[in-house]
Order: sequence, then C-alpha cells, then structure tokens
Amino acid sequence: MDRLIVLGTGQAVCLRYHNTAFALYDGDQYLLVDGGGGHEILTCFDQTGIEWQRLHYAFLSHEHTDHMLGMVWVVRYVAELINWGRYAGDFTVYSHDVAIAKLYQICNLLLKPAQFELIGRRIHMEVVRDGQKLDILGNTLIFFDIHSKKAKQFGFRLETAKGVHMVFLGDEPFSEETAPYMEPCDWMLTEAYCLDSERSRYRPAELNHSTVREASECAERFKAKNLVIWHTEDESTYGRRKELYAREAKHYYSGRIFVPDDFDVITLT
Ligand SMILES: [Zn+2]
Repeated sequence: MDRLIVLGTGQAVCLRYHNTAFALYDGDQYLLVDGGGGHEILTCFDQTGIEWQRLHYAFLSHEHTDHMLGMVWVVRYVAELINWGRYAGDFTVYSHDVAIAKLYQICNLLLKPAQFELIGRRIHMEVVRDGQKLDILGNTLIFFDIHSKKAKQFGFRLETAKGVHMVFLGDEPFSEETAPYMEPCDWMLTEAYCLDSERSRYRPAELNHSTVREASECAERFKAKNLVIWHTEDESTYGRRKELYAREAKHYYSGRIFVPDDFDVITLT
C-alpha cells in the first residue's frame, strides 16, 4: 500500500464533509476502510477515480450509521456489477462478529434477492477476532478491539510489504488496552472531533471523541512519524480546518501532520 485515498473526513452529522472513510491503494488493488453513511460512497469512488473492478477487500470498524450504511451500498453495487457481468472475482468485507451480523441482517432485509443470494458465493462477510492476523494483498493486518463503550469496534495495525507500519484507531480515542498494537508506527490514523480550545462548545469526551491536542499527544507518546486527523466537526473551523488543526497539533506533536480534506490523496512513505 503506498497511497491513502481520503473519501471523507467528517463526523456523523456533518453537512460539508462526507463521513470518514478511506481506501488504501497499492497501484493495482484497493482496500476500503468503512463505507460512510450511504449512497455517497458511490460518488466518492467516482470523484477519486477508484475502479470497482480493483476493489476486492473492505474492512468495517463498527455498526454506526456513518460507517456501516455506506457498506450496504458497496455490497449492493458490487452485487449489481457481478450480475451485470462487470466484476471478476470475489469481494470480502472483514469485521468483528457484531458488525458482520448486523451488516448481513441489513442486506438480508433490504437487498433484492438477486443481490442477496451472492452473499456466501461471490460476496463474503468474514468475522475477525481481537488480535487476529491476516494477509490482505501482501500486507499483514492485525485487528484489535478498541474497547469502545458505545458499540463494539475494531481498529487495525497494518504492515505493508515494504515495511511501512500503520495504525488505524477507529473513530474513538486511544484506549490503554491497545497500547501493545501501537509501535512501531509510521502512520497513525485517528479521529479528532474539534480543537482543544473548543472543547466546551463540542464536549468531545461525552461523545467518546478526542480533541486535536489529545490525538496529537497520543501520536507523540507512540512516536508516530506521521499523523492523520479526521472525523471532525464542520462548523467553526470550516474553510480553515487544515490550518487551525495543524497549528494546534504542532504544539503537542513533533512528527508530520496531515489534516486532509475529502478526496485528498496521501502518499505513504
Ligand atoms: Zn463515526
């Protein structure tokens, strides 16, 4: 994986950003991480030039609407492509038992029979366990429970064939139980709901989210070389988010800071 394609950077109820989702790309194949909140995932693929025929793997962190419902659209669209004879091979979504059961159930309730019957044949929903290691497209992934108090959620650490280490913390603050998965870390991908100075306005802790300062302190603690911050508000900093978030992060973190916009592409080195 040498590119990170940012599909969305907003928290659940943003109006100006898409919900946080991204794809990793190795120049040939994609790994999609989360689906966003719905049909917008199709337009996000279109906008970033992701070819569906090169997408065979996805990971879903948890069941919340802003992450899971777009995955229903991904499953539906892949099913349609298969039925139209425009998709070769299989498509697999990985997640923990709770999210996989719900994704399956929603697809069962909402998809047309001709789409749903492909699940188990060409479309696979695979349960991964806490601490499980898996090879996907030549990358080693280790999935871990982030110990969310809201809904069961997994993150992962990934090592590319070229030895780049990435940690994806899901959409909640770092929890001490996941410390063994943090290092070494070339890339840390984490949520940060708002600036620390706006903590009283947004109350991120009550939503189980971080401020930019907290995310930056975590990255500093684990000596992450690069920090990617997303899953943010879209009100007070809209239009100046890159500048304001990077400025705050710089106070607490000494590595490279990325505050991407939707559809930014980050080269992973
Ligand atoms: Zn979320």
